[in-house]
Amino acid sequence: MTQINSKIPQGPLAQKWSNYKASQKLVNPANKRRLDIIVVGTGLAGASAAASLAELGFNVLNFCIQDSPRRAHSIAAQGGINAAKNYPNDGDSVFRLFYDTIKGGDYRAREANVYRLAEVSNSIIDQCVAQGVPFAREYGGLLDNRSFGGAQVSRTFYAKGQTGQQLLLGAYSALSRQISKGSVKLHTRYEMMDVVVIDGKARGIIARNLRTGRLERFFGHAVVIATGGYGNTFFLSTNAMGSNGSAVMQCFRKGAYFANPCYAQIHPTCIPVHGEFQSKLTLMSESLRNDGRIWVPKKKEDAEAIRAGKLKPIQIPEDERDYYLERRYPAFGNLVPRDVASRAAKERCDAGFGVGATGLAVYLDFSEAINRLGRDVVEARYGNLFQMYYKIVDEDPYETPMMIYPAIHYTMGGIWVDYECMTSIEGLFAIGEANFSDHGANRLGASALMQGLADGYFVLPYTIQNYLADEIRTPRMSTELTEFAQAEGAVQSRIQKIMAIKGNRSVDSIHKQLGLIMWEFVGMSRSKESLQEALDGIIQVKHEFWTNVFIPGESEDLNVELEKALRVADFIEIGELMARDALHREESCGGHFRIEYQTGDGEALRDDDNFSYVACWKYEGDGKEPSLLKEPLVYESVHMQQRNYK
Ligand SMILES: Cc1cc2nc3c(=O)[nH]c(=O)nc-3n(C[C@H](O)[C@H](O)[C@H](O)COP(=O)(O)OP(=O)(O)OC[C@H]3O[C@@H](n4cnc5c(N)ncnc54)[C@H](O)[C@@H]3O)c2cc1C
Repeated sequence: MTQINSKIPQGPLAQKWSNYKASQKLVNPANKRRLDIIVVGTGLAGASAAASLAELGFNVLNFCIQDSPRRAHSIAAQGGINAAKNYPNDGDSVFRLFYDTIKGGDYRAREANVYRLAEVSNSIIDQCVAQGVPFAREYGGLLDNRSFGGAQVSRTFYAKGQTGQQLLLGAYSALSRQISKGSVKLHTRYEMMDVVVIDGKARGIIARNLRTGRLERFFGHAVVIATGGYGNTFFLSTNAMGSNGSAVMQCFRKGAYFANPCYAQIHPTCIPVHGEFQSKLTLMSESLRNDGRIWVPKKKEDAEAIRAGKLKPIQIPEDERDYYLERRYPAFGNLVPRDVASRAAKERCDAGFGVGATGLAVYLDFSEAINRLGRDVVEARYGNLFQMYYKIVDEDPYETPMMIYPAIHYTMGGIWVDYECMTSIEGLFAIGEANFSDHGANRLGASALMQGLADGYFVLPYTIQNYLADEIRTPRMSTELTEFAQAEGAVQSRIQKIMAIKGNRSVDSIHKQLGLIMWEFVGMSRSKESLQEALDGIIQVKHEFWTNVFIPGESEDLNVELEKALRVADFIEIGELMARDALHREESCGGHFRIEYQTGDGEALRDDDNFSYVACWKYEGDGKEPSLLKEPLVYESVHMQQRNYK
């Protein structure tokens, strides 16, 4: 039977990473120049990795589907990035950040990885400050911090509500330096279509030039996947429109395990869905929960009157408002983790206390903060987010509470990687949101940016050398090799098959059909019946896609519908894998909430005896059920217990 080897170094938890670095293999400068590394993705993970690997002396080929690396989805990140600097002197430490992250992930993440993440978090801030990232500062000039969910300290560094943009500009400037030196060859508007595996090792990719539609072959001694998450499987999400799971699925079909596909994060503070023809949801950053208070009316009649447009929230007196998070979780209040806050909002709305025209919304109210701090302070902290809300909803959040509701936001599942960020295919690495590594069943706010940059700046530049040190005798291979030709041929056939369908349905309409099934049956709460229903529904969607989709135009041309169709074909497969994984995991943990498994007061009920493992799904062939391998999760430094934020 295949054994999962996560390659966790020996030694005490706090010394594993130092021990690893002290004994890893290195590549000398002359050899580095002879080694090519393909990095797919220019978000925070991909850009930081490409820049750092080139700075080390490797020859890097970097790909993205946008016309500029700076347009990667990472630019959307708003609220901040965590680090255990303890600048506010409020009791933070590397161990506490590690502990909060493990607990936040509901004890379903790998201990050694999470500790390393917490350990390198401080270096990320130093690196970014050195690059000129304009983090918010206090009056005295020191870097400012705010709080995010699942923590009782303030450890989140931020740049207004534009942290991702500023961090990406930092990474982009480092990348640009390497591009101008010639050590990074940048390919914008190129989409990876397949990974090429030769003698069991990743040796290149097939990419489609999105301007011409032509397929091209690229060789690399190693391939790094930094293509982000697959939240758009749900059609409506906070992700960028171009975010997709196709590269992950290409790797899966070539033998890389897909880990914990069912772990998807539903973010509690998004602008509610407002119509049938919407294709995108907008996040209101979690940072707003520092000062905003979440409530619904205490009385159902008030909620009904609000829904009917007969009452305004500001007319409801203080003692008739139910600040349900503060009531249920006094220790963490509005800053409980996202899975907990999302479920609590759903519970109130399902019970009839929801507001807004649809009843699927709760209030996020700043009146108390404005009275306490003054409007100018609130504006300085969150101004751009308030402006965004005003533009979309046409209501002034300084005057009336915002309305929010949970929405799909992030995927904790992804390509399985070992401690070195290497997948189950040798020489194929995965970093950032594309891998599964550090967040268990629920990611804490401000930890995705931390993980992406940790992987790119501080982890991969070490670990990839351990692999490449044994590749110094491997010459650059010709892309005329059979394996390249076969991979390109298979991609070509897939494209031709989709083009030839010439049915009656647009790609978006089928994607939306998939999304509705996912949200209804694989969304915030799941059950054996709902998941079975999802699997049945997804099979129908798959059939509809492969018999009735219509793609106009030509394949060897700019063809946006074809691009979307190729991604949706993979979203359908991912949806199926998510439902299958959620069905097999007969427990609730983090964002995976099975209604059959809950505590008396509606919290997620884990089954540590039977499910304390990473679920690694292995592709067994087209039309066949994937098989399940398990990586046991062993905790030596924390004690697994029921999560408690009360
Ligand atoms: C609205 C919003 C706000 C957020 N705010 C925060 C926050 O405040 N703090 C936090 O920690 N996290 C936040 N997150 C999460 C965080 O932004 C993401 O998890 C993170 O940016 C992902 O980075 P990445 O580099 O892994 O991937 P991405 O930024 O998604 O980049 C993916 C890259 O891969 C490329 N790509 C994809 N597929 C292909 C392909 N097949 N071929 C070639 N290239 C490809 C894309 O072009 C892109 O360059 C937020 C997320 C959203 C949606």
